[in-house]
Amino acid sequence: MTIESCNFAGKKAIVRVDFNVPLNENGQITDDTRIRGALPTLKKVLADGGALIIMSHMGKPKGKVNPKFSLGQIKDAVAAALDAPVSFAPDCAKAQEAAAALKPGEVLLLENLRFYPEEEGKPAGIDKEDPAYEAAKKAVKESQKEFAKTLASYADYYIMDAFGTAHRKHASTAVIADYFDADHKMLGYLMEKEVKAVDNVLTNIEHPFTAIMGGSKVSTKIGIIENLMDKVDNLILCGGMTYTFARALGGNIGVSLCEEDKLDLALSIIEKAKAKGVNLVLGTDCVAGDDFKNDCNTQVVPVGNIPEGWEGLDAGPESRKLFAAAIEPAKTILWNGPAGVFEFDNFTGGSRAIADAIAVATKNGAFSLIGGGDSVACINKFGMADQVSYISTGGGALLEAIEGKELPGVAAIKG
Ligand code: AMP
Repeated sequence: MTIESCNFAGKKAIVRVDFNVPLNENGQITDDTRIRGALPTLKKVLADGGALIIMSHMGKPKGKVNPKFSLGQIKDAVAAALDAPVSFAPDCAKAQEAAAALKPGEVLLLENLRFYPEEEGKPAGIDKEDPAYEAAKKAVKESQKEFAKTLASYADYYIMDAFGTAHRKHASTAVIADYFDADHKMLGYLMEKEVKAVDNVLTNIEHPFTAIMGGSKVSTKIGIIENLMDKVDNLILCGGMTYTFARALGGNIGVSLCEEDKLDLALSIIEKAKAKGVNLVLGTDCVAGDDFKNDCNTQVVPVGNIPEGWEGLDAGPESRKLFAAAIEPAKTILWNGPAGVFEFDNFTGGSRAIADAIAVATKNGAFSLIGGGDSVACINKFGMADQVSYISTGGGALLEAIEGKELPGVAAIKG
C-alpha cells in the first residue's frame, strides 16, 4: 500500500515519526525541522477524515522513565503545527482507551517509546559486561513482540515515516509491521522521499557521478567509499582523512589528524580507484594552523609538507580548484562530510568551495544529495539549502543505505 493511494476516512493510523527534536533548558523546541518533515504524512491522514496516533522517541532515556525526555513537552507545538486537537498518552503501552476514543480529525501523541526497554530491545540498567546481560536481552527481545503488538492494536494502519531511525530494528520501526498485512502498512511521504533520493544516487545514476567524502576519519567512511567505488566517476576524499593519505604516501603531516593504523587501507583505496578507473581526487595543499583554534596562525602548504607542530585544518586554494573541477560537470552528486574544521569560521573555505560547486552543478541539472549531519550543518551555515536537490534528514540511516545495506524500517514495510 502507498500513502497516496490510501483513504483514511473513518480509520486510525499509527505513525512512527522522528520527533527527537532539540529542546532548550525550558523544554522549548530550538529546531522544529523534524516536526515539519512529518507534516505531509500526518496532514494527509487528517485531511482524509482519519485519526492519528503519533509515536516517537526522544533522546536516550535507555529504557527508563525520565521527564527530561517526555514528549509531553512538545504536545502544544505538535497541535499548532497540525492545527488539530492533540491529546497525550502518558504511558505509550497503556493507551488502548485513549486510542479507541479518538474521533476523525483527532490526534493522540504517545509518550516516549524509549521509556520502555522493549522499544530498542535492550535491557535497562544492566552493563553489557554483566554475566546476566545476555539472558536479560533475550527476555526483552521476547517482550518486544508483545510491546509492538500492543502499539499495533491501537490502529487500523501503520505508517513508517521516521527515516532517522529506519536503520534500527526497533519495536516501533520494524517489529510492529508484523502485525499489519501488506494493505495496512506503508511508508510515509518523508520516507518515500528519502528512499527515492538514495535510489537516485545508487541506481538511477546519471553520469558523471561525483561523490565527496569528508569529515574526520577514513575508518568510519570505508564501507561507503568501497560501495561507491563501483559507481562513481570521481571520488573526492577530503577533510581530516586527507592527512592519513598524505602520510601513507610518505609525506610529513605535522600534527594533523592521522589514523596510523589505516595507512595500508589508504594505499589500498588508491590502488582500487586506479584498478576501477575512478578519478580519485585528493587535496594537494591545505590551510595549516599552529593550534586547533579559529584564530591560530595559518599558512598554505602542500599536504605532504606540513611543518612540525602545524596541522592541516582546511583544504587549500589549489585543492579547492581540483574539487570544483570534479564537481561542476557532474550530473549526480553525493556529499557527506566537510572538507575542513568548518565549525571554525576561518576554516570553512574548502567546504564553501564544495558547496558553491554543487550549487553550480545543480543549477545545470545535476541531482545533488547532501547527507550526514555535518555536511547538512555546513550547507545550512552557508544558507545554501535551497541550492541543492535534496538534504537528507538521516545521519546513520543515510550512510547505511548508501553502503548498500537494506534498512530494517523499509524492509518491514516491503515484507
Ligand atoms: P565526521 O563526523 O567523520 O563526518 O567528521 C566531521 C568532523 O570532521 C567535523 O567536526 C570537522 O570539524 C572535522 N574535520 C574536518 N576536517 C578536519 C581536519 N582537517 N582536522 C580535524 N578535523 C576535521
